Amino acid sequence: MKIWLDGGLRDVGSARVSVFDHGLTVGDGVFETVKAVDGTPFALTRHLDRLTRSARGLGLPDPDHDEVRRACAAVLAANPMPLGRLRITYTGGHGPLGSDRGEHGPTLVVALGETRRRPDSTAVVTVPWTRNERGALSGLKTTSYAENVVALTRAHEQGASEALFANTVGQLCEGTGSNVFVVLDGEMHTPPLASGCLAGITRALTVEWTGARETDLPLDVLERADEIFLTSTLRDVQAVHRVDGRELPGAPGPVTAKAMRLFQERSGDDLDP
Ligand code: PLP
Repeated sequence: MKIWLDGGLRDVGSARVSVFDHGLTVGDGVFETVKAVDGTPFALTRHLDRLTRSARGLGLPDPDHDEVRRACAAVLAANPMPLGRLRITYTGGHGPLGSDRGEHGPTLVVALGETRRRPDSTAVVTVPWTRNERGALSGLKTTSYAENVVALTRAHEQGASEALFANTVGQLCEGTGSNVFVVLDGEMHTPPLASGCLAGITRALTVEWTGARETDLPLDVLERADEIFLTSTLRDVQAVHRVDGRELPGAPGPVTAKAMRLFQERSGDDLDP
């Protein structure tokens, strides 16, 4: 397996990042996960734009898009696979022990993992912890993911594949690695970005392609929604068949099935929509 580090391809076994890299010591970094179909990244321009927004949110220098594109192409060419996930990690670089950034420039790592198609439907749980829609990291895709790891572990313990958060005012927000949509009276709704959710790329494309509405939704909408689905780079559009103790028999329901179909058709037309 070859990865990109320090401006070139390296064997993963011999690639070295400082043990004082701030991505490791204080979670000072940002990242993207990009789907790659037969060696071509999906929606790479949108991912690079979000990487830059996240980096600016942390006060990191703008990543060099040309270098990241070159890195992705090189890693994909060196590790051919039918369905892959590129992981672009961009950190504050190595610095002193503590939270001050050092003098060194950022670290860029691009790696690739094999991935698989997810089932059409899944179970989710809600968790008692909240997303802080007013926090400094709100809406940024940072490597400070430990809260998501804790929540996802809770979901797995309950036989679910995703955990959903409310925000601090009790509104539905997002999952640990996905956005959430609900169907009410035949109409699709998803929480607005002001809820504190990540500006998911799959979410944005689903809103564009289906006309879903952005609506403030109380968490208990999950108890009465006719259909619920998740969107993410690795799930595409995935129906929910159980939320906490509530079953949603027949998932994917008709509206979700239409969103899945539209997403599949439209995303196949253009790999950089
Ligand atoms: N929300 C969070 C917290 C995420 O980490 C992700 C994806 O990694 C998403 C939503 C979905 O975003 P995307 O569709 O761009 O993968």
